Amino acid sequence: MDKLRNMILRKTVYDIRHSGYLKRCNVTLAKPLSELFNYPKSKFKFFAKNQTGLFGIHELISFEGFYTLKERTQIECDDFVNEICNPNRKRNLVTIFDQLSNSLCCLADMAEFIRTAHSDKSFIAASEDCCISINTIVERLNTNKDLYTSLKQVITDGDKYLMTEEDRHVCELFLFDFELNGIHLEEKKRQYVVDLNNFILITGQQFMIAAEKPRVVDRTGLPDVLLKEYSSIVDKLIVGHPSSQSEDPILREVAFKVFYSSNAESEQLLDNLLECRHKLALTCGFPSYAHRALKNSIAENPIFVMEFLDTLNTELRTRSVIDYKTMKKANNNNTVSPWDVQYLTNRIKQNHLKYAMIDYASYFSLGDCMEGLNMIFNQLYDINLLFEDIKPGEGWDERIYKLAVTHRTEGLLGYIYCDFFERTGKLHNDSHYVIKGGRQLSDDSYQNPIVVVMLNVVWRENNGPVLLHPGSVENLFHEFGHAIHSMLGRTRYQHVNGTRCATDLAEFPSVLMEYYATQPQVIKHYAKHYKTRQPIPEDMLKKLCSSKCLFAASEMQLQLFYSVLDQYYHTRPLQTLSTTDLLGKLQVEYYGLPHIKNTVKHIGM
Ligand SMILES: [Zn+2]
Repeated sequence: MDKLRNMILRKTVYDIRHSGYLKRCNVTLAKPLSELFNYPKSKFKFFAKNQTGLFGIHELISFEGFYTLKERTQIECDDFVNEICNPNRKRNLVTIFDQLSNSLCCLADMAEFIRTAHSDKSFIAASEDCCISINTIVERLNTNKDLYTSLKQVITDGDKYLMTEEDRHVCELFLFDFELNGIHLEEKKRQYVVDLNNFILITGQQFMIAAEKPRVVDRTGLPDVLLKEYSSIVDKLIVGHPSSQSEDPILREVAFKVFYSSNAESEQLLDNLLECRHKLALTCGFPSYAHRALKNSIAENPIFVMEFLDTLNTELRTRSVIDYKTMKKANNNNTVSPWDVQYLTNRIKQNHLKYAMIDYASYFSLGDCMEGLNMIFNQLYDINLLFEDIKPGEGWDERIYKLAVTHRTEGLLGYIYCDFFERTGKLHNDSHYVIKGGRQLSDDSYQNPIVVVMLNVVWRENNGPVLLHPGSVENLFHEFGHAIHSMLGRTRYQHVNGTRCATDLAEFPSVLMEYYATQPQVIKHYAKHYKTRQPIPEDMLKKLCSSKCLFAASEMQLQLFYSVLDQYYHTRPLQTLSTTDLLGKLQVEYYGLPHIKNTVKHIGM
């Protein structure tokens, strides 16, 4: 493996000395990633004079730029629409459609991101306004019959310009998006589809809000252990979480039963949602909502999905029984109930690890993990992550880092902006955002992709370097799997670029990267103690990697059960069985623990 490291070093030196790209851009060569990410400095003022705009977009020096960009996009879109509908057009239809989609996505995706990530109110308001305007344009385009007819005609009769297999596929995807909104239906039905879509959107939001709401219950008759744990208002107790990590089994049990107790409001919302989704699918010509959702996915249709889930169920059954036996043993041979699972598995995993989490974190400084990612990408794809100075005004907060992704022979492939640190008002989900998708340009050059990787690392300046817990390392690797997919999926059309592929394929590169975060052969090359620079000891490494396999079967079985439930809810109309009765029935077949009467964990959060 030392040989391997030398190869990385040689390649890095080669890149620094010979890449033409590096001469053109402002790459900081002296500092390795580890130093930059371990001690993040807030040196980038984002309101300095003579600055560049957000993401290097000149107009976005000030929030007013969003208004300029909005107007320009509107004019561009009108031009593309006219070109598409012109019988004497001079270009391939799908190319114009992709350009139209590119204009809208470049602004909509960026504005959507800035709306949630920027800390300045003027930028938030301007980007919000921009999102609303783009949505209005999109809605208008979605109901433009001329656009739809042009596309349909090209698919039926072929384009008058050369049309490859790839062109046809992308054309069909555009057509499918149109038909999702019912454009191909007679006016009355089309309006019905629009109404159903709006109803589904609102009901979905109401369902999510209801699921997150704490339970407010009468204090009378509740056990002391519950009354002590949660706060009260007058004679009501507010149960905001299920206490699943509590050491007290009685508290776990009663909190579970109260927090997940049957909830007429949520059940009604779920019924309404499923009913409307089913009506929507039937109106659009699909046998069920699942058929509609799975079209254009790798899985293709609900029959294949259920075949896969049933095979997985058979494979998991005996393995998960072993997991539940392990839990039972740790539970003093008492029966394991649903409220025990999280507590027991966590406790067993912690005992297995033997060392405290902070001991593990000492070997996973953020900088070393970034070097690890760079090493893996270098070995797998011949690419390097190079730190590039962010200019004043280019970022949306003070601690934003920019990485240029460069290939050894092909040069610059795109940019990854890193927004890693927690701040007030920031969304809590670790995520990957596409700001600009890649696509082939008419002069044979390539529109390089721009993405953001967002994490929520907690770090205080006087705490030493940024250290990650093993779970956060996996998240970092997962999100970088998405980011590199966006960089390497260099398709001709941005409509299918990188993570814009089939949704069930999109998680593959990210999950693959998680495996690299848990492989001893890989970890030992970058996990070094931040003080001593010693590699992670063999014993810790073994414990860490083997802990990933603990309860893998029972945890996967839970996900399998949710998937089956999802399939059943969306494959057929609910007739005699309620969502909760169906849950109880399926739980027997697809999960290792029985359903607890009068609880609805599937519609809680
Ligand atoms: Zn993902």
